[in-house]
Amino acid sequence: MHIKKYIPLLLSLILLLSLIHPPLKSAAAGTIQVSGANVNVREGPGLSYNVVKKVNKGDTFSFIKEEGDWVQIDIGSGKKAWIANWLITKKESTTSVASSTKGTVTANSVRIRTGPGTSHSVLGSLNKSDTVDILKTEGNWVQVNTRLGKGWISKDYVQTTKGATSGGNIGTIHASSLNVRSTPSTQGNVLGSLKKGEKITILAQQNGWLQITYKNQQGWISGDYVKVESSSSTPSSTPNQSDSNATGIIGTVTATSLNVRNSGSLNGQVIDHVSKGDSFQILEEVNSWVKIQLKSGKFGWIAGWYLQKSMSSESTGANGSPKNSTVTIDQNGTNIRSGPDLNSKVIARANAGDKFSIVKVHKDWYEIKLSNGKSGYVAGWIVTVSSGVPQVEKLGSSSDIKNKKIMIDPGHGGRDNGATGAKGTLEKNLTLKTAQLLSAKLKARGAKVLLTRNNDQYLSLGSRVSMAHYQNVDAFISLHYDSIDNHTVRGMTSYYYHSNQKSLASNIHTAAIKQTKIKDRGVRQGNYHVIRENRQPAVLLELGYLSNPTEELMLNTSQYQEQVTNGIVQGIVTYFK
Ligand SMILES: [Zn+2]
Repeated sequence: MHIKKYIPLLLSLILLLSLIHPPLKSAAAGTIQVSGANVNVREGPGLSYNVVKKVNKGDTFSFIKEEGDWVQIDIGSGKKAWIANWLITKKESTTSVASSTKGTVTANSVRIRTGPGTSHSVLGSLNKSDTVDILKTEGNWVQVNTRLGKGWISKDYVQTTKGATSGGNIGTIHASSLNVRSTPSTQGNVLGSLKKGEKITILAQQNGWLQITYKNQQGWISGDYVKVESSSSTPSSTPNQSDSNATGIIGTVTATSLNVRNSGSLNGQVIDHVSKGDSFQILEEVNSWVKIQLKSGKFGWIAGWYLQKSMSSESTGANGSPKNSTVTIDQNGTNIRSGPDLNSKVIARANAGDKFSIVKVHKDWYEIKLSNGKSGYVAGWIVTVSSGVPQVEKLGSSSDIKNKKIMIDPGHGGRDNGATGAKGTLEKNLTLKTAQLLSAKLKARGAKVLLTRNNDQYLSLGSRVSMAHYQNVDAFISLHYDSIDNHTVRGMTSYYYHSNQKSLASNIHTAAIKQTKIKDRGVRQGNYHVIRENRQPAVLLELGYLSNPTEELMLNTSQYQEQVTNGIVQGIVTYFK
């Protein structure tokens, strides 16, 4: 609907309604919205009662009570009437419209589920001090609205705080005058009005209505006339400062002007501004707030939802599209293909020294612009790229691993999810993704690659080791992602068990750290089955912490996946040299 067009009309309608309706004595327990067209509203709860009036789809009314399949509503002028419940949608039970119910999570790694019980699947997890909107309670479970969406959380891990005082979204009125009402409907009595440009703090939302504080009381305004600027889930604890090296993620500001605050919440004092297009290293991320360092050297916090994130050390622009970068063909007769893989059709050939501009990077392949204006794809390992684009590992000096038998072991699988990330990443899925990418790169360099699993399948630790023995592999690389209660912990750790495995572990570790610039947690001896019981040179790599929300975000990027697999390949090459 082109609502703007109707603003004058709606406003006069609102004004008119406000004039003819006397104040309501008490706020209703919720609202309903009409979902059918031209619906009869009746004197009583049944089809035999007289029709009082007709209402239209989208109309909202205060809900009074329910009887069987019928709902009693307030139709204004103090009148009550009944509407069939199959022709309405109910606003999710807000216990009271006069105050929104907020909650604070009281523990770390609290799981959010799709339903009220542990049998329901996990949407993700929340951490201590995260704020949620409480929607309803069922037994020992609470339905909440979180940054992960709607879900259920155990009552034991949420503390209720009535009528949120901290945080809240900020909005600006963009109608010339907007009524503030006692209930979230045009039937609510008018408490006063707001002028264009006035700023309000939004306490709650209901059916398109926003609850605000107005003259020391709570009121409702139509959300159609409010421009919501930002939301804050206020990190109530001081974000950990000890681990404040760069995350390796660059954020580019997408808002025209964005406040920089001294803490990660809307309550933080504004200390500076940044503008659209400005880029910063993200130092830390807490509840959607991002810590950056300004050019002046000062540190500050900005709202993360106004940032487009990309990996650093790549000058690939917004969507991985490198600006003004070129590839130079290394060999005569190089195939240019219709897609980014070796199975795609050869559509052109190029010779050594030919240059093409890069349209986009697709994993190991570059999409290039051909002389006819069309796009083609060339394998990254047979070209040289100008600076500013990730150089795919090249063939050539790679005879070191030619015909080496390398077994990649993606950790977990099937019923064993491994770790669940702060935002829901399952370790078993990410290890498989990394393994497949690593496999492609090792194969491209002539290695004989075997995977312990190549799909979401459960595999015992014993059978993984047996496969390594049976195949008599030259190297066994077990891939994992880490998790720990302390969500500030991050970085990569490489494990060996037997001393003859140490050199493989340290070669891979060094190269992977160099490529990814992830925090270095060192090469350690670890008592893990797949390396302890392994007679082959075997290592177990923990490629970063899924329990750290910022690191989880980074680990999932294709750029990290590229870099870490490049590093592992390099490490393996060095090991075999
Ligand atoms: Zn694992």
